[in-house]
Amino acid sequence: MKKLASHWQILASLVLATLTAIAFRGLFGGEAAEGSFVARAIEISEFIGDLFLRALKMIIVPLIVTSVISGIASLQGVQGFARLGMKTFGFYACTTLLAVLTGLLMVNLVEPGVRDGQPNQTIREAFEQRAGDASEAQKATVATASEKEGKDFFGVFKAMLPENVIGAATDNGQMLGVIVFSILFAIAVTRLPEGEMRTLREFFQAGNDVMITVTRWVMATAPIGVYALIFPVVYKTGARIFIELGPYFATVLVALAIHMFVTMPLVLKFAGGLSPLAHFRAMREALLLAFSTASSSGTLPVTMRCVQDNAGVSKRTASFTLPLGATVNMDGTALYECVAVVFVAQVMGIQLDFAQQFLIVTAALLTSVGVAGVPSASLVAILLILKNSGIPNADMAVVALLSVDRLLDMSRTAVNVFGDTCAAVVIAKSEGEKVLQAR
Ligand code: ASP
Repeated sequence: MKKLASHWQILASLVLATLTAIAFRGLFGGEAAEGSFVARAIEISEFIGDLFLRALKMIIVPLIVTSVISGIASLQGVQGFARLGMKTFGFYACTTLLAVLTGLLMVNLVEPGVRDGQPNQTIREAFEQRAGDASEAQKATVATASEKEGKDFFGVFKAMLPENVIGAATDNGQMLGVIVFSILFAIAVTRLPEGEMRTLREFFQAGNDVMITVTRWVMATAPIGVYALIFPVVYKTGARIFIELGPYFATVLVALAIHMFVTMPLVLKFAGGLSPLAHFRAMREALLLAFSTASSSGTLPVTMRCVQDNAGVSKRTASFTLPLGATVNMDGTALYECVAVVFVAQVMGIQLDFAQQFLIVTAALLTSVGVAGVPSASLVAILLILKNSGIPNADMAVVALLSVDRLLDMSRTAVNVFGDTCAAVVIAKSEGEKVLQAR
């Protein structure tokens, strides 16, 4: 029997997990009593989901190091390297700006935090309730972030040059340092005498091949992992938040959809001369995994595989644009930050004038660069912007947003990953590579 393609398996798991979670809610109600059958099922599911995520994350550092070094140290690796870098950063900056502007436009048009021209009291009360009900872990996350207020704005530039590269590699949020170090290392490799250069090149190439095999093994468990990740999320979410925060959810999701299904396809078509449909098809597995895991870093091994194997981007371009993209290019996150901050301001009754909104746009652009590619990472950036904009009750609002974050997080992560893949194919095409050809 022919094996179902990987993206269909993941999609089937997603659907199955959603259906069983809804059925469980119908059978057992929304609240799982401690020690009950449902509570146990959720616990086991979360445990397995966590194992799957950990396995994906485990691959990241060796994969980044080996692929960046072997990609850049390859023949002609450094030739035109500065050009590649400029194009990549230019593409990232422009597309993230487009995303933020879409978010800003939508949140000003819909005004999800306003009702009859007044700050929406019901949402404010829901915020207070949600903040009260939030788990201790969620409250602690926000409290720690709150203490660090302000100091993180330029932290991302420091993170590029870690004092200790091994330390950076062990810290999930510090991938940027590992990438910069790997790039420097790769350039230095190309300066070695021929024999030594070949040895190192082959060593890292072989290491990269090994990591690709490991990725394949981990992805073989994806249907189970995705099921285990999604089941508890749907079970715990329920319909109430959609009623309470419906207009807010709709604003975020529509803005993300515009960016992913209108803006970026136009960019693919007109900046790259590429077929958006073919690109979507090539990226199916990565997009579904990004949606399921809410982690663009965790998805990186699969993103790299899809971009090289399905879209035909060279290893050199993929290994430069994608690890960098997974850490610094976050269209969905920047868009979300902007919507969330303006929404909270609306709920708190703060009128933001043009200059303040401009500052929020700039802050969303800058902070999205520093947000780690892990679940809910952008809430810290949102807290930072709210505080810097002088919006009251920021801590409470962020705890409340954190408690309803998962679905939005999954959606913006898919947009983040999609943005990275678009950069990879457009830049590869501009470098003369044959991408997205029917094969
Ligand atoms: N979860 C997102 C990502 O991994 C980051 C965020 O917006 O929280 O890309």
